[in-house]
Amino acid sequence: MSYELSEDLAAFRDLTRKFALEVIAPNARKWDEVKWLPEEVVAEMGRIGLLGVTIPEEYGGAGQGLLGMTVVTEELARWCGGTALFLAAHLGLCATHIRLAANEKQKAQWLPRLASGEVIGSWCLSEPDCGTDAEAMTTRAERTKTGWKLNGRKFWITNGKRAGVFVVTARTEPKRGARTISAFIVERDRPGLIVGEPEDKMGMRASDTVPVNFENCEIPEENLCGNYNEGYVDALRVLDRGRCTIGSLSVGLGRGCLEEAVKYAAERKSFGVPLHAHQAIAFKLADMETLVESARLLVRQAASTHDAGRPDKRLSSIAKLYASEMASRVGWESIQIHGGAGYVKDVCVERLVRDNKLCEIGEGSSEVQRMLIARAEFQRRRA
Ligand SMILES: Cc1cc2nc3c(=O)[nH]c(=O)nc-3n(C[C@H](O)[C@H](O)[C@H](O)COP(=O)(O)OP(=O)(O)OC[C@H]3O[C@@H](n4cnc5c(N)ncnc54)[C@H](O)[C@@H]3O)c2cc1C
Repeated sequence: MSYELSEDLAAFRDLTRKFALEVIAPNARKWDEVKWLPEEVVAEMGRIGLLGVTIPEEYGGAGQGLLGMTVVTEELARWCGGTALFLAAHLGLCATHIRLAANEKQKAQWLPRLASGEVIGSWCLSEPDCGTDAEAMTTRAERTKTGWKLNGRKFWITNGKRAGVFVVTARTEPKRGARTISAFIVERDRPGLIVGEPEDKMGMRASDTVPVNFENCEIPEENLCGNYNEGYVDALRVLDRGRCTIGSLSVGLGRGCLEEAVKYAAERKSFGVPLHAHQAIAFKLADMETLVESARLLVRQAASTHDAGRPDKRLSSIAKLYASEMASRVGWESIQIHGGAGYVKDVCVERLVRDNKLCEIGEGSSEVQRMLIARAEFQRRRA
């Protein structure tokens, strides 16, 4: 694995960093309060190419790999986890599912519009009664004369309020099992697709999270996305990649907490010297920096295995687990270094810490990652 970003990717990182500094940093607190990422910001993200980072160039995207996605996500999350989560759901989940599983006609229909931001995407796997155990989903897709009829409830759906297209997994055979579930592309204006009220969340508030219900929602045959009964298997492939994205989201949040702490420790004086002159604080900063750097390496290593065509699920899980727990730890230390100033909203650290908690829960919780890592490790040793 090379530790240098290509010239292309470094330029993309710099472009994203500039956008994050100029547009996100001054406004993220407001977006957290109003629970919304303004449409003009989304449009600008489309204009500068962020909404299509991993979409192939032939479909109007930037043609970067998963490594590119992690680099961009880190830069956005440095200032606002919700903005990064918006991109993770739109591109990392919805567009990636279409890119990996859809047929040529569907890709040509949706990927250019997703890359430009003309349409925003959502991805519907979780349900009110099953998140971790998503394989137990009860949303049904039944055959009709002309296609499919969807009935069921999806929950915790990021971007649902603004999405124009939803990739939805539903049971196509009335029995449990990974291969009794298919995926469908559902346009927002289909009668029977009902978007509920946004959740009032602890963090990631710039991104909306809604329930999406299906009540006799009819879609044509050609909206099946991927092979019949392989929707869940494809969803797991999407999640393997998503774990690298969520890992990089935490790297960005952890980096934000670290950078704010370094700045404050240089400005704030106690006992006549800057905070960082106290060894207890300097050592905290050293530990925080070590944690952020190592998480970034794990994330980029895992992403690179996908880009090299030999995806390593174990490394994706390790990266997500380590990075998400790292950012919480670094975040609390940053608040500690800020003293009372860290306990109020004028400093962005408390928001970044709230944002990060989701990274220990979504796209496979820390408990699930530990299960997957242990399972893979035992299999590896037996082989
Ligand atoms: C802000 C936000 C955005 C989201 N966006 C999306 C989205 O866009 N699309 C989507 O489909 N979903 C989305 N989700 C859903 C998310 O992926 C789920 O919340 C997550 O998978 C956990 O599922 P759950 O909430 O049902 O928790 P549960 O599955 O009920 O788990 C509760 C707790 O029990 C633990 N647990 C469960 N089973 C086991 C086990 N076998 N062993 C040990 N521990 C276990 C879990 O780790 C967790 O700590 C989002 C969630 C949030 C909060």
